[in-house]
Amino acid sequence: MKPAPFNYLRAATVDEVLQKLQEWGEEAKVLAGGQSLMPLLNMRLAQPRYIIDVNGLAEMTGMNWCPETQTLTVGALTRHRELLQHPLIETHAPLLREAAHFIGHLAIRSRGTLGGSIAHADPAAELPLVVIALGGTLVIQSLTGEHSIPIEEFFLGYYMTILKPDELITAVKIPGLANNTGYAITEFARRHGDFALASAAAVVTVDERGTIIKARCAVGGVAPQAIRCPAVDVSLSGARSPGDFAQAARQLENMIEPPDDVQASGEYRRYLAVELMSQAIGVAYARAVATKEARA
Ligand SMILES: Cc1cc2nc3c(=O)[nH]c(=O)nc-3n(C[C@H](O)[C@H](O)[C@H](O)COP(=O)(O)OP(=O)(O)OC[C@H]3O[C@@H](n4cnc5c(N)ncnc54)[C@H](O)[C@@H]3O)c2cc1C
Repeated sequence: MKPAPFNYLRAATVDEVLQKLQEWGEEAKVLAGGQSLMPLLNMRLAQPRYIIDVNGLAEMTGMNWCPETQTLTVGALTRHRELLQHPLIETHAPLLREAAHFIGHLAIRSRGTLGGSIAHADPAAELPLVVIALGGTLVIQSLTGEHSIPIEEFFLGYYMTILKPDELITAVKIPGLANNTGYAITEFARRHGDFALASAAAVVTVDERGTIIKARCAVGGVAPQAIRCPAVDVSLSGARSPGDFAQAARQLENMIEPPDDVQASGEYRRYLAVELMSQAIGVAYARAVATKEARA
């Protein structure tokens, strides 16, 4: 199918985007990588009157590491491919690189953007999942100003967010990893490049004796949105063995109620989530200990 007719604007500045978003409201859609929006247009599941193309806006591209705040700011237009290659990602947020590796295929990674993936709010998408585990915040702009919110407050359910029609995500802020911290993402998809049936991400910090003192875990594909798992985090306090990790991961059993669908039963997704979480914690823990030993 072909999209319904629309008016196309190639914006020259973020300010122009914000003005048009305010003027056109719900009749407008921002076009970033187009990897989710274009299929929706082609299937006529979305029929906006106006498309505002933000590609090429310098204010939404690039990355910047701030040593004072120990924060990496990543432009919303950063392509998945750049997450795989950029040295600042490698140094300060390597979990984003690992997540991007799981996304679709080369063409999708070449066009798709970090901001687009988050705004689209697919519950199985990898980037929202790892930004939650990393404790990231979103920078949101409208004509009335700029504000930041923790990403876990952004999602409202399947493909739904708190973003208002006149708002634009311009950047994502990722706190740097503390000393002695490890990270991991695990997922199960039937074929590489498919959306995962379930996924898990863990970021853990260990003390000098190799005991977990802090954890941030998240799961994807098993709820209407990627979610943080505070019960798992709490259960990991003092953990240091695979048995401890498996026990912490089992907290998920009571936390999630994945529905049955054509891809998998809810029960199978729940099983996957627990196993994947246990594995993610194990890998994150091993990396945290290796980092600690390398620093000793
Ligand atoms: C075949 C295929 C396989 C895929 N597999 C995966 C996968 O395995 N894992 C995965 O995570 N993703 C997958 N994707 C989706 C891909 O990651 C998309 O790039 C991503 O979901 C959307 O990013 P985009 O930049 O293309 O956004 P677009 O398609 O341009 O936009 C998506 C939505 O977000 C809005 N939007 C975009 N940018 C902003 C912004 N800065 N501020 C506010 N709103 C904005 C748009 O208006 C639109 O509503 C796949 C896509 C395809 C086509």
